[in-house]
Amino acid sequence: MTEKSPPLLLSTTLMFTITTVVTVIGVPWYGWVHGFAGNDLAFMLFFIAANGLGITAGYHRLWAHRSYEASKPVQLGLLIFSTMAVQNSVITWASGHRTHHRHVDDRDLDPYAATRGFWFSHIGWMLRNYPSGTPHLDNARDLLNDPWLQFQHRFYLPLALLTNLGFPLAAGCITGHIVASLLLSGFLRLVICHHVTFFINSLAHRWGHQPYTEQNTARDNAILAWLTWGEGYHNFHHLFQYDYRNGIKWWQWDPTKWLILALSWVGLTRNLKRASEFAIQRAQLTLLFSRTERGLAQAGMSAALEPLKLRMAAEYETFMAALNEWTSIQEERYRITKHELQQHWEHTQIHQRLGELETRLREQYKRLLLLSARIA
Ligand SMILES: [Zn+2]
Ligand SMILES: [Zn+2]
Repeated sequence: MTEKSPPLLLSTTLMFTITTVVTVIGVPWYGWVHGFAGNDLAFMLFFIAANGLGITAGYHRLWAHRSYEASKPVQLGLLIFSTMAVQNSVITWASGHRTHHRHVDDRDLDPYAATRGFWFSHIGWMLRNYPSGTPHLDNARDLLNDPWLQFQHRFYLPLALLTNLGFPLAAGCITGHIVASLLLSGFLRLVICHHVTFFINSLAHRWGHQPYTEQNTARDNAILAWLTWGEGYHNFHHLFQYDYRNGIKWWQWDPTKWLILALSWVGLTRNLKRASEFAIQRAQLTLLFSRTERGLAQAGMSAALEPLKLRMAAEYETFMAALNEWTSIQEERYRITKHELQQHWEHTQIHQRLGELETRLREQYKRLLLLSARIA
């Protein structure tokens, strides 16, 4: 028996249909007949970047995950340009996103469960009144208490209309090409920004690799990261959602993390949260270990591999023991910092022990990587 679909949400469906039709037909037609000037394109690119970063640095990493704190001017800038991205209010968006993290892939509870197919997770979930998509907001009490976010939530529709008409019109007045600006900075910009965000719910849950966890469908994908202002490192993000970075290596394309970090140098953002290096290594090793075990089980019992397997298990255990010691000493250090200086000598000893353990952990980590490469 096929499941009956919930009713269509007319206003959302109409909004997506109209913006798509104008973009697909109106933009190429106008370009063919009248052409677009360089400054019209430049404004569009500016708004694409401002909306994109408003969503990733604002809606996602600041408000949904609280992965850093931002000063009022930064909050205001992020709020204005993310409102223009037409993705509903911060409160509704962040509440749905927190539910996505909490119940990821659950067909009944995750609002954009990738397990329900590409179309559903990309855009389908917004077109019908699915029970899983109804925001409850009880997981967004912190945001409900913020007066700016309350205001944006209450007046979302007029604010979205105002920014979507106002900015392209203003750009058009500057360039002298009102229609071209409405088409590029209005329609094409909005459609691009929509699908860039939607890719994170659809493509980033099915295309790429899983270096940190196999507990859900989230993937790391460098190509997607280029398209999505750094959000393509979604496998890392699902395990360490409180980290302000998504691409953690310095060379991984994550302009959102660079923006947040650069703003912290001038005091405009603070308390940037990061997962510890060893928590990340522990996740990678646990995964590597279980993959190696799985590979060995599939390959059958080979006598030649048996000693390697035993060594791998022993090394893994030693690494985990050292890591647990490191974690408890870290906790001790935080406790001591509170009482501080009279126990200065104790503090110094703890520092030394941490340093020794960190060197050992790095060596063990390298050994385990080499060993697993030999087994694979
Ligand atoms: Zn996700
Ligand atoms: Zn997230």
